[in-house]
Amino acid sequence: MSLIVQKFGGSSVANAERVMNVASIVTDTYAKGNDVVVVVSAQGDTTDDLIEKANEINPRASKREKDMLLAAGEQISISLLAMAIEKMGFPVVSLLGWQAGFQTTAAHTSARIKNIDTLRISREIDKKNIVVVAGFQGITKFGDITTLGRGGSDTSAVAIAAAMHADLCQIYTDVEGVYTADPRKVENATKLPEISYDEMLELATLGAQVLNNRSVEMAKKYNIELEVLSSMTKAPGTIVKEKTKMEKMLISGVAKDTDVARISVTGIPDLPGLAFKMFSKLSAKDINIDIILQSIGHDGKKDISFTVPKSRGNEAVECLTDYMTNLGAKEVLYDDKVAKISIVGAGMESHAGVATKMFEALYDAQVNIQMISTSEIKVSVLIDTVDADKAVKAIHSKFFD
Ligand code: ADP
Ligand code: ASP
Ligand code: MG
Repeated sequence: MSLIVQKFGGSSVANAERVMNVASIVTDTYAKGNDVVVVVSAQGDTTDDLIEKANEINPRASKREKDMLLAAGEQISISLLAMAIEKMGFPVVSLLGWQAGFQTTAAHTSARIKNIDTLRISREIDKKNIVVVAGFQGITKFGDITTLGRGGSDTSAVAIAAAMHADLCQIYTDVEGVYTADPRKVENATKLPEISYDEMLELATLGAQVLNNRSVEMAKKYNIELEVLSSMTKAPGTIVKEKTKMEKMLISGVAKDTDVARISVTGIPDLPGLAFKMFSKLSAKDINIDIILQSIGHDGKKDISFTVPKSRGNEAVECLTDYMTNLGAKEVLYDDKVAKISIVGAGMESHAGVATKMFEALYDAQVNIQMISTSEIKVSVLIDTVDADKAVKAIHSKFFD
């Protein structure tokens, strides 16, 4: 007998018919003699709708209250799925995050899991119940409800798999696995039979939302093999694990991230310490900086450009505008009509010319590059948002056609 964790995303439980479909996948697994813990997200666009409702009333609402609201979405899904499983004649119990033992930090709306007290889940499994757990949520040591950040149910599932030493962790979604690019945007994207944690982590961090990046980080840390597959078809999915059998592909995928904005601070005196001072202001506010570009000094002045998440853009600009006189800078410019396009692949470590091939694809498509950043297994470029889809297609066909 095995313990299997199955996670179903929002589109997999979007309506009654799909909830019944999920119930049949879960009960089939149970009927084969397995213990099953199911993690579900909120139905369809529920989380977006809840955010909209909050904004209608108070866009500046505290994060504690936002979490209280957002956690409601998953409560609907677990109860409906449990009802569907009951209807099929199987023993089942639904649990909210706190009932399932999810203890988190107090960083509301982006809390981190500190520990899972698995006692309740284990007891329910001992009673032979199918356990349906609300993803995305937990509780602080003060007893307040938290959420784990958008896409956080993937992390809930991997965390349970790690804490319970599950034999298998399946992430069911609305596509058949991890593809070489978003299959909804790039027609000839192909499904990868397997992908390493490191490559998947880069792809997820760089915008491939099929898995949340924290879930991949956790899977790597606890060596949990993941299977990403579709809840609508029976096709084999993608296995995410430490080492893949496949020969290192030159690149495994192309990703697009539109949650990015560019800030340029111009006319900064060309002296030591100013970059440090400027970026410490932003890190004090916990604003992540990504690609950084500094111009060569001329006439004793230099410009520094960098990217931040779009959601933190205004805050970053306000903070730097206040600080500009201290820096002796000329102006702070802001542009949020940009997108970051990246290629990821373990194979590029040992092959020269991968970045050049990407730049050639962009040149062929007449897309202008604003910024570039590279690491051992990825190359990212910042371009205009309007060019983003065209760029992804051009790069994808350069490498995969
Ligand atoms: P869920 O609701 O199941 O969590 P998500 O919407 O979070 O599903 O993630 C699945 C979506 O991720 C797909 O519908 C697809 O459009 C998108 N996606 C982006 N990049 C990729 C990729 N490389 N491979 C597969 N799907 C991708
Ligand atoms: N319902 C949450 C969201 O939409 C969590 C998730 O889907 O994983 O972000
Ligand atoms: Mg998701």
